[in-house]
Amino acid sequence: MVTGVDDVGLENCIYCGACFRYCSLNAYKELDGMELKALVAAVARIARRGFRPEKDMQVKELLDRCTLQGDCDRVCPAMVRPFLRNKAAKKKIEEAGVCD
Ligand code: SF4
Repeated sequence: MVTGVDDVGLENCIYCGACFRYCSLNAYKELDGMELKALVAAVARIARRGFRPEKDMQVKELLDRCTLQGDCDRVCPAMVRPFLRNKAAKKKIEEAGVCD
């Protein structure tokens, strides 16, 4: 049973970006200047360590496009659960009390 971010498999991530590149909603075609690899790393960091409002607002805005459809899990080649990674990061952002 998956119990938390430690069970998401983040340590297996190779930062290929497939989870965002092949988003079934095509929500990450444009990244407002951010590199795909940097987005993956930032979302994983937020999921693990928490949200920093002073530095992570652009990541939050990009992650807001994710509606947790979960199709990203099917394209990951490295046994990560990007759906759960995104869900954990969204929870950290919510816990930080950041409003839209
Ligand atoms: S979670 Fe999977 S698909 Fe996403 S960057 Fe990491 S290895 Fe690639």
